[in-house]
Amino acid sequence: SLSDRLGGVFERLRGRGALNEGDVRAAMREVRIALLEADVALPVVRDFVEKATEQAIGQSVLKSVTPGQQVVKIVNDALIEMLGAEAVDLELDVTPPAVVMMVGLQGSGKTTTTAKIAKRLTEQKRKKVMMASLDVNRPAAQEQLATLGTQAKVATLPIVAGQQPVDIARRALQSARLQGYDVLILDTAGRLHVDQALMDEMKAVADIAKPDEILLVVDALTGQDAVNVAQNFSEQVPLTGVVLTRMDGDARGGAALSMRAVTGKPIKFVGVAEKLDGLETFHPQRVAGRILGMGDVVSLVEKAAETIKVEEAEALAAKMAKGQFDMNDLRNQLGQMRRMGGLGALAGMLPGVKQVKQAMASGAADDKVLIRMEAIISSMTPKERAKPELLNAKRKIRVAKGSGTTVQEVNRLLKMHQEMSTAMKKLKKMGGLKGLGALLG
Ligand code: GDP
Ligand code: MG
Repeated sequence: SLSDRLGGVFERLRGRGALNEGDVRAAMREVRIALLEADVALPVVRDFVEKATEQAIGQSVLKSVTPGQQVVKIVNDALIEMLGAEAVDLELDVTPPAVVMMVGLQGSGKTTTTAKIAKRLTEQKRKKVMMASLDVNRPAAQEQLATLGTQAKVATLPIVAGQQPVDIARRALQSARLQGYDVLILDTAGRLHVDQALMDEMKAVADIAKPDEILLVVDALTGQDAVNVAQNFSEQVPLTGVVLTRMDGDARGGAALSMRAVTGKPIKFVGVAEKLDGLETFHPQRVAGRILGMGDVVSLVEKAAETIKVEEAEALAAKMAKGQFDMNDLRNQLGQMRRMGGLGALAGMLPGVKQVKQAMASGAADDKVLIRMEAIISSMTPKERAKPELLNAKRKIRVAKGSGTTVQEVNRLLKMHQEMSTAMKKLKKMGGLKGLGALLG
């Protein structure tokens, strides 16, 4: 895998302060090979490597990972950024009917994806959806969509023999308008290869239908070829997004990166099965992991970054042992836990937080619990935060009211703080954080 390769390149560099240009370039040669192996198109690879190189040079190396692992993390993050960090939904907030037009080569999955999207909009967004097939080339193409419509419980435009695509589009629009549909999805014909007749047909249909979304459907398994297809389509019709199908196969994900780079449009969905609920929103993280053939490395580097927080924790621990760990510190820790979706540097190691930790692991507690705890602390006066023992029954009632919680919850939080302090004092006797393992059992 890429991380193994980079391991070799960087073996001699352990303990260096920052990634220097020569090292990074050496590593990027391996990255380049990995991307090509994942089927990313060559011009895209070149561009990407250049950008990632710039980002990596001069970054300081985390103490507990190898520079190679860190480069992988940088590359991974750059991939995610390039793939589009967040999922982008369909933009259907228009005067109905919103029109979605599907384009792409024959066999790319247009008809299947049309039905998948229709089903999703019907079931998840409560939209009234109509589908229409404009495919008059392939025998029984219109029947194929009608069958899928029955399966998905979505309406299809009645078939009229002998009509041309533009006329079908016109009729579909009219029906959708008259019958009050929210969304009309037009499934167009494909060709085996991009040709001008096909493009002209697309353009004529787009002129009539004025689609709000034009989605290019591409088979992820076609790898490098997909790039030419995307290039051609995006030059001739104003695409709004891409759907990558057959991501359930052994596609290495490279097409995703190429699509985004070539069309400049977001990947809106990925097809992950033949069946009609085999459609997912696009997850850049997963695809990045697939391209790099890793997964483990990123979490490893993240763990290392946390290890560095141990130093931060030692400082906090010293404060605690002196009895100076107050509610402000606790609030910071809770905020950190919430943001990291896990445990704060210190909080994660302490027995007082063990219950919260267990509750979180079992799914019984979530962000909401942490937010409530933070709210309780925020409702305390500065004096109370510095000296929680000031909180008598009357003050507890005030704090509970102010934070929209209960006195019970306030008590639980105070107990947690108390336990943390006690644990820290014990710990000090046992010789600092190193004794932590023994204490936790
Ligand atoms: P069209 O010619 O572009 O309309 O392509 P179709 O929708 O007819 O799909 C061609 C074939 O690909 C069919 O057998 C589909 O079941 C299959 N297919 C489409 N999308 C996916 C997908 O995401 N995963 C898998 N495994 N098969 C798919
Ligand atoms: Mg079709």
